[in-house]
Amino acid sequence: TELKNIRNFSIVAHIDHGKSTLADRLIQLTGTVAERDMKQQMLDAMDIERERGITIKANSVRIEYPAKDGETYILNLIDTPGHVDFAYEVSRSMQAVEGSLLVVDATQGVEAQTLANVYQAIDADHEIVPVLNKIDLPAAEPERVKEQIEDVIGIDASEAVEISAKTGLGIPDVLEAIVNRLPAPKGDVTAPLKAMLVDSWYDPYLGVVVMIRVIDGTVKKGDQIKMMQTGATYKIDKLSVLKPQMVDIPSLGPGEIGVFTASIKQVRDTKVGDTITHDKKPCAAPLPGFKPSIPVVFCGLFPVDANDFEALRDAIEKLQLNDASFSSEMETSAALGFGFRCGFLGLLHLEVIRDRLEREYDLDLITTAPSVVYKVHMKDGSVEDLHNPADMPDLTYVDHIEEPRIKATILVPDEYLGDVLKLCQDRRGIQLDLTYAGPRAMVVYDLPLNEVVFDFYDRLKSVTKGYASFDYQFTEYREDNLVKMQILVNDEPVDALSMMVHRDRAEQRGRAMCEKLKELIPRHMFKIPIQAAIGGKVIARETLSALRKDVTAKCYGGDATRKKKLLEKQKAGKKKMRQFGKVEIPQEAFISALKMD
Ligand code: GDP
Ligand code: MG
Repeated sequence: TELKNIRNFSIVAHIDHGKSTLADRLIQLTGTVAERDMKQQMLDAMDIERERGITIKANSVRIEYPAKDGETYILNLIDTPGHVDFAYEVSRSMQAVEGSLLVVDATQGVEAQTLANVYQAIDADHEIVPVLNKIDLPAAEPERVKEQIEDVIGIDASEAVEISAKTGLGIPDVLEAIVNRLPAPKGDVTAPLKAMLVDSWYDPYLGVVVMIRVIDGTVKKGDQIKMMQTGATYKIDKLSVLKPQMVDIPSLGPGEIGVFTASIKQVRDTKVGDTITHDKKPCAAPLPGFKPSIPVVFCGLFPVDANDFEALRDAIEKLQLNDASFSSEMETSAALGFGFRCGFLGLLHLEVIRDRLEREYDLDLITTAPSVVYKVHMKDGSVEDLHNPADMPDLTYVDHIEEPRIKATILVPDEYLGDVLKLCQDRRGIQLDLTYAGPRAMVVYDLPLNEVVFDFYDRLKSVTKGYASFDYQFTEYREDNLVKMQILVNDEPVDALSMMVHRDRAEQRGRAMCEKLKELIPRHMFKIPIQAAIGGKVIARETLSALRKDVTAKCYGGDATRKKKLLEKQKAGKKKMRQFGKVEIPQEAFISALKMD
């Protein structure tokens, strides 16, 4: 296909503003998929994504569109994930296309993820076509939203396309705008092959599938290619385009987007952002500026039933086949036995993976407190990455500790602004900016990531009745007065409850933890002290009083069946308990205790 007849684009939007519905309409209207094969949300492959309405893996579809000018165009849509945890996936797919449709729900207006995503598009030098969706709804205010787009984002919205992705209204205008307003890709067909690795995933039938965008040159089936970052070479077995199901194609030229398989063993062998070239006749220099997506949030995953350890190992390996950004390492905990220390791109990523492990693999899991990665600077000058508070080195060897900081952008209706500022302040935030866009405020905070990983998002939603939107970016590592807080139950440290906290917050958090645990741990036949400590020093303490009699005692030995029933109940409950020394702690206690209000 000639370059002038290609348009590559992505759709950027806040979650629920209609990105998937619009993609479906574009596919449907151009007859890319036969009517009878049309499923809702074609591009959201996994069930769990569909349920939660999020798209995790960037996907792509090639659409043929006969335009009003009489020419037929190839439109390549790359669908990008909309959520903060996957910001890196957004940025990489942005590099592979020349333009974006900015979809804004005309009843809602610009939200935090709209901003985060559109700035990525602007950074990638995209031409941007604003699209106002949901104009079928009576609450739609296209004029106000246009103004807002101009005020807040600073792009011309006078020619925004007004549509209803639901009814199909305005979709032909979107197709014309793509052809007329987005630029054609540039590239040199005579130059050596240069292609960008946009994405890769594991397909149970085909193995590792790699999505590429060709910049220069041509790639054909059977070619011997080389990944410039890893140095590995492969022979292309199968070359296809996604419509969105795979359709084989003999070659791909400049500006084109497609997928290939090449007997690659693991998704890990494919580095997103890597440059692909011909082994024998390579291009002069790789593409600039790509970073690997690295996990930023870690937690331990342990099977409730120790016999499930092997099943958990298998399940984790299976999920990793398809997700190179999810890392794991075996871990043993005195309290929880054998499990895995796992790394995630963010909290949502963590939740999605845990959910899949529990649902698809039928596992009961204990999740320990999520923790960020700290940089521990030792007195001897070395620096250690601390993934697990339980591994904190002895303080006498530690010089100082750095923690990751983020820049958070929050959009919130005026009336909740006070609560949001208080929440950010409570989480050690530093206000960077506060501006107004109509009746809504936009606040920018510098926050420790560690204060956000617990339940910041939940708290934000609850103090604003769901009206706030939030997005964040990692900024830097910075030193602060951080300490490891241990929890001791009946004088035994429970490593799964250890956490890094700011020294100034330690007492408050320690007290809250002890109070919560006192409610969560059932009473035993003896008195149980619950303590929070830093180093050897106890900073908070609660005591759980002793139970007088055992459960069956009140049956007076008379009713044998009732006694049996009670014991059975006790046994079932015990399965969900963990033994710590002489004390049993229910698994809910771990999760609940770590949620701070
Ligand atoms: P995404 O999260 O941006 O992919 O949003 P979806 O495409 O999943 O849409 C979110 C919700 O909005 C779904 O319930 C859609 O049915 C609904 N929706 C999408 N477009 C429209 C529209 O034009 N009008 C109306 N009324 N609802 C829409
Ligand atoms: Mg979607």
